[in-house]
Amino acid sequence: MEAEKKKLSIPPKGIRAIIEAIRLGEIIKPSQYAKREAFKKHDVEEAWLNRVLTMIFYDIMKKQGLIDKVIKEIVGVTPLILDPWLRAALRVAVDIALFHDPSSQTIKNLRWKASDFISSRTHPYVGMYFWDLLDKIFEYKPNPKNELEELEWKYLAPSWLIERVKGILGDETEDFFRSVNKRHEWISIRVNTLKANVEEVIGELEEDGVEVVRSERVPTILKIKGPYNFDTSSAFNEGKIIVQEEASAVASIVLDPKPGETVVDLAAAPGGKTTHLAELMKNKGKIYAFDVDKMRMKRLKDFVKRMGIKIVKPLVKDARKAPEIIGEEVADKVLLDAPCTSSGTIGKNPELRWRLREDKINEMSQLQRELLESAARLVKPGGRLLYTTCSIFKEENEKNIRWFLNVHPEFKLVPLKSPYDPGFLEGTMRAWPHRHSTIGFFYALLEKSK
Ligand code: SAM
Repeated sequence: MEAEKKKLSIPPKGIRAIIEAIRLGEIIKPSQYAKREAFKKHDVEEAWLNRVLTMIFYDIMKKQGLIDKVIKEIVGVTPLILDPWLRAALRVAVDIALFHDPSSQTIKNLRWKASDFISSRTHPYVGMYFWDLLDKIFEYKPNPKNELEELEWKYLAPSWLIERVKGILGDETEDFFRSVNKRHEWISIRVNTLKANVEEVIGELEEDGVEVVRSERVPTILKIKGPYNFDTSSAFNEGKIIVQEEASAVASIVLDPKPGETVVDLAAAPGGKTTHLAELMKNKGKIYAFDVDKMRMKRLKDFVKRMGIKIVKPLVKDARKAPEIIGEEVADKVLLDAPCTSSGTIGKNPELRWRLREDKINEMSQLQRELLESAARLVKPGGRLLYTTCSIFKEENEKNIRWFLNVHPEFKLVPLKSPYDPGFLEGTMRAWPHRHSTIGFFYALLEKSK
């Protein structure tokens, strides 16, 4: 009985909620929105249950490629061609069976309630099929076939990505994967000093029983212990806080825009950095915020409004056309927080590692170069351009900057020294998950000659 108490315990509604969250996670991005919606739908109100299900949710995201290989071995076909509800239920079952120690009641709930639930969403045959597969899932023992597969199980990532990280980080590869694979319970937020001060926000959060720690590098960044309900948070709804990683906040600080300046943010949505730039400019001057994604731009507009910002002009346009739209050499400062593979965020978005494709890297690098060309034309003589990505690959970072400096001799690097570590090109800077407890991030600050 004592031993049962320590085992993983999930009630019927929890089984339904986690299957629905995994199902919705395929449709709704970022995946935490899917989780939030599913938990709401199935009345997951208890903090302990939310915590357990959140842990399983991210565990499945992180191990999805491996879990899918197991399903393929058991079912005989790739799970991608199965009914999506069956696929979600199988992913939940494999994760619980292989990576946790479920109580007998949880196994019972998985058998009965998951079968009922997916039957109600699809067809009773699908539920029966799931029922039949459950014994095989609980009997399964992982058996990596070669060294590469062993590493995939060790680092929970596809082998091509492991090889690439080894090429970049060498001996630190294990630390890198350990860091991105650990449980991320802390959520990074930035205080909007246009609406509140840091002390006031800490007080408000602590009064609500939220654990808060300050970032050592950025005074307006706080880490709060999740889960945290932003929907019902007055600090969030009143625009006093926004979710932002420390490494992202460092970008706007490095660009250092001044009140009254003209700033162009070329890939702005959903606005984490745009709102920060406006704050640093004390809401004085002008920010042109470009982005091609209408939905993400809607979120930017909501944030701008909620955070009391008046100086942002959102433009749902391709930033490669920006000089034709707002003119050449109009900007004191340009931020190009470029679209990228986002490989530096696999700790925060754990399923991403299984969706990433190696051939995407060169495709992104090409787009980044085109955007850099546009950025170069916008900067006034003597003005500055900050190029950032949340990718760890050199093709998207140092290699692009080397290329840029070659084709644009009118620009030189302004060396960056703090708060993170040198990049692989002198003067550039990188943040690393395993060294700095934030997302992987790259910075290159460039100045146009007068
Ligand atoms: N700076 C944003 C922030 O801090 O919240 C994040 C930007 S995200 C890294 C990159 C953005 O580039 C995406 O929102 C994407 O829609 C946008 N994007 C992709 N191609 C673009 C293009 N050609 N022109 C403008 N924006 C583009």
